Amino acid sequence: MTPKERFMKALNLQKVDRPPVTCANQTATLDQMEKIGIYWPEAHKDPFKMARLAAAAWEQLGLEGAGVPFCQTVEAEIFGCEIKWGRKKTDIPQAPSKGYKSPDGVKVPENILEKGRIPVVLKAIELLSDKYGGEIPIYGHVIGPFSLAAHLAGMEKIMVTAFKNPDVVNEFTHLGVDTIAEYGNAMFDHGADVVVIENMFASVDIMGPQGYARVAAPYDKELINKLKGPTVLHVCGNGTLIIEDMIKTGATCISIDSRTDAKKSVIAAKRKAAIMGNVDTMKVLTYGTPEGVKTDTMRAIEAGIDIVAPGCAISPLTPNKNLKAMVDTVKML
Ligand SMILES: [Zn+2]
Repeated sequence: MTPKERFMKALNLQKVDRPPVTCANQTATLDQMEKIGIYWPEAHKDPFKMARLAAAAWEQLGLEGAGVPFCQTVEAEIFGCEIKWGRKKTDIPQAPSKGYKSPDGVKVPENILEKGRIPVVLKAIELLSDKYGGEIPIYGHVIGPFSLAAHLAGMEKIMVTAFKNPDVVNEFTHLGVDTIAEYGNAMFDHGADVVVIENMFASVDIMGPQGYARVAAPYDKELINKLKGPTVLHVCGNGTLIIEDMIKTGATCISIDSRTDAKKSVIAAKRKAAIMGNVDTMKVLTYGTPEGVKTDTMRAIEAGIDIVAPGCAISPLTPNKNLKAMVDTVKML
């Protein structure tokens, strides 16, 4: 069985010999960059560099998957946000908010497949699919409509308005659904096997459980309905209290953060969705030891997780030896 066959089976809740070990979010690290001489920010803008760096975790460590882009700013950029690339090779690009006061002021971009870095990402997916698509799953990463709304209006405004005037937040969030769906469907057309929806700002830690259900989940669901292939839904932070709402969106797979209760998530999914995660990315993978990684990986497996993966995007400071320890722990089962 190829890693891709195993992954697709696990994603569809079929029996597998062992869980796949992969990552639905970004996987590039400084260790990997140094081995191939390709760095950020160039790899955010050049499809050939983007594809090579995205494949590095598979090539160097056997992590079963490759996905692009590395950042969460592509959608915000085509809506007019300016990108701050950072100065260091490990800086994650940011898209400071445009601070739109009202949804009426937002200009929804047209012909998006030609805008900003979308052609770069689609070309990178094509390159990954051509070279590795027979072996490992290829992921296209998009952001959730709520996270795009936070880029457009500013997180603070969204947080305040969500409780005072949820209709305005709903309008802001709804604005991005069709654009993100078109982008995600183009990823499938270019060879992506799965589209990962990263809804980082919809975190319970920021919005509370009711916030997610009221102003983020309905649009995750609408987006998932419009996407023509399998989806992974990732919401950052402790998702224990919103796991039912996440499952109800209809995502094929739910990617849970390390602070989310893995056992409860598996039970809540009742085999309606696959559960992916939730090895601790900071304390364990970035700053821990291979021994600690092994322990946390076994904990996730014993909780019944269908697909073993980091609980969030991998920090670029994660040492190769720790990522390798996660991969080896699963492969030795
Ligand atoms: Zn996350």
